[in-house]
Amino acid sequence: AREQLQSLAQVPAVTPDGESLILAANISSVKELDAALASGAEGVGLFRTEFLYMDRTSFPTEEEQYEVYRAAAEKLNGQPLIVRTLDIGGDKQLDYYEMPEEDNPFLGYRAIRFSLDRKDLFKIQLRAILRAAAHGDVQIMYPLIASLTEVREANALLTEAERELAAEGVPYRGGLPTGVMIEVPAAVLIADLLAAEVSFFSIGTNDLVQFTLAVDRMNEQISHLYEPFHPAIIRMLRTVTEAAGRYGIPVSVCGELAGDVRAMPIWLGLGVHELSLSAQAILPVKDAMLRTPAQQSRQLFQELFQLPTALEITERLERFHAETA
Ligand code: PEP
Ligand code: MG
Repeated sequence: AREQLQSLAQVPAVTPDGESLILAANISSVKELDAALASGAEGVGLFRTEFLYMDRTSFPTEEEQYEVYRAAAEKLNGQPLIVRTLDIGGDKQLDYYEMPEEDNPFLGYRAIRFSLDRKDLFKIQLRAILRAAAHGDVQIMYPLIASLTEVREANALLTEAERELAAEGVPYRGGLPTGVMIEVPAAVLIADLLAAEVSFFSIGTNDLVQFTLAVDRMNEQISHLYEPFHPAIIRMLRTVTEAAGRYGIPVSVCGELAGDVRAMPIWLGLGVHELSLSAQAILPVKDAMLRTPAQQSRQLFQELFQLPTALEITERLERFHAETA
């Protein structure tokens, strides 16, 4: 079965009725990119850059970051590389930087909040990304966005970084597509306002499920309540894709749920543009996609939208999956 899956690596990702969906990779190092490309990844939808900052004794310099982003961009040979800016805090700590003691670290000083508080460090990362963009299709994504103000502040710093590089005569490419992670319920509710000002959305279901259901994604005692197929999540997904559709921007899904083959008709039913997956999930998901008609998926989604509990939604998806498998 493994060999059969591997033979799908070079097969185009299209449904039986001819609709396509980009299957990209989630990576946290350049090394991981090899496995992803061997599985046929069509670009990187999420480069988790925090791992560049971890397991060392000081912040990575602009030069060090540039080398890493550039190596990834070059390996991709023109396919897109979405670099997510630093998502530190929560469960991810730095040995060399004392973070405040927090009662609720996942709701605390992390991700874009840290970056906007430490603009000195943020600008170093943005400069490195802009320089690497001279070597490929590099795009920027901000994590844990909860307001338009955060996006504007980050973009203002990005413009400042571009001006600096230009003034210094350092090669770079500006005007990069800039998108946001949709992983906080507030971002879903203002998806229309965000869509008017960004180039793309990427739904981070890991955090979005955690925050929507108020269920800590790390707490085993309540893991049975961590239900990605909860009706609240189904509604949120639709809110996001509708807003994006109205403004003509693409939507990707990069949380673990994207790798759940049972969810395939949800993505096809909603008209999502891209799934970003861990390397091992790419081929199983492509296999599911090759068997799942988009037309039937749209009908199924209408049904799912009416179902009142996670259990009923899950059972309906499993029945559909068994029929198409
Ligand atoms: C997510 O929250 O779904 C996500 C992709 O980001 P991370 O898992 O790195 O928090
Ligand atoms: Mg997240």
